[in-house]
Amino acid sequence: MSPPIDQLPAIRLKELQSRMLSWKQPAYRAKQIIEWRNKGVLDPQAMRNLPTPLQDRLRVEIDCQPLTLTKRMLSADGTRKYVFSLCSGKMLETVFIPEAGRGTVCVSSQVGCVLDCAFCHTGTQGFEANLTSGEIIAQILAVKQDLRESSGNGSDNCVVTHVVYMGMGEPLANEQGVHNSLDMLLARDGLGISQRRITVSTSGLVPAMQRFGEKFPVNLAVSLHAANNRLRDELVPINRKYPLEALRKCLDDYPLDRQRHITLEYVMLDGVNDRDEDMEALASFVRPARERVNLIHFNPFPGTHFQGSSKEHMDAFAAGLIQLGIRATVRKSRGQDIMAACGQLKAETQAA
Ligand code: SF4
Repeated sequence: MSPPIDQLPAIRLKELQSRMLSWKQPAYRAKQIIEWRNKGVLDPQAMRNLPTPLQDRLRVEIDCQPLTLTKRMLSADGTRKYVFSLCSGKMLETVFIPEAGRGTVCVSSQVGCVLDCAFCHTGTQGFEANLTSGEIIAQILAVKQDLRESSGNGSDNCVVTHVVYMGMGEPLANEQGVHNSLDMLLARDGLGISQRRITVSTSGLVPAMQRFGEKFPVNLAVSLHAANNRLRDELVPINRKYPLEALRKCLDDYPLDRQRHITLEYVMLDGVNDRDEDMEALASFVRPARERVNLIHFNPFPGTHFQGSSKEHMDAFAAGLIQLGIRATVRKSRGQDIMAACGQLKAETQAA
């Protein structure tokens, strides 16, 4: 088997410099390539200050564009959804959410997901593949490129300021791809995004959370969705392996400096987890000094039997939590009209 070819989105400056040396090219060519790459330009032909023979060699010896954009959708609220294909033909989705003064890319870490959370469209797809760090970073670069082209066309003027790992897949079930992509996001020769602007979400893979917390001081979000084991076993089946007691202990021990907090995500399902007793169980699970609750609107998808709680009920539930001393907010749902909202992603090829 031939060794895996390097992917340009994940390649570090030093590696590229030694590659240039071995190709008898001056080392500054590596810097030029990295500058193009970090702007989102991955096609060697578009790297205008490179000589044509170097552009050709790059294309042959390095996997410059591991993702192919197959579809792009624009929501009425400005959210963009991108469908990409891998060279294997597998498909994945990425979302860009513009807000006043910030732009967030929501990346996928896997194609499909093995965890099968009851309220999630991706879970119905099953697991297909872990994404490499190059394929994760390529999603962000493709969004950057698209935004630049759009602003050149005189439409909006958004930029990528934040990255969340909340797309398809359980990030901590793909430690290699996610850890390496975070190294690249945080690195100076990488995308240089501040650790405070990156959030990784997990459904509660306790041992992987411990390893993650020791390594990356980025924001952590935990998909809680129920604060009693019986209900969480149903909604988030990984709870059967790592029940709330184990999750609680892991969260208590999680390294966190004083200015930071952990977000507990709670999708609100009508009559399922939005009753008074659910609120009380949630309030007693949360450690207010370290954690805050983010209530999420349930976004329906074909075949689901759940219904979301009403907006009024979500607001009342948040107010009830606040009265109990918990910091709670209701997250605005974005991109629902293009199936880009939380829990709605599923490879377009399998949309039914
Ligand atoms: S919510 Fe996340 S972990 Fe659960 S099935 Fe969906 S993608 Fe996987």
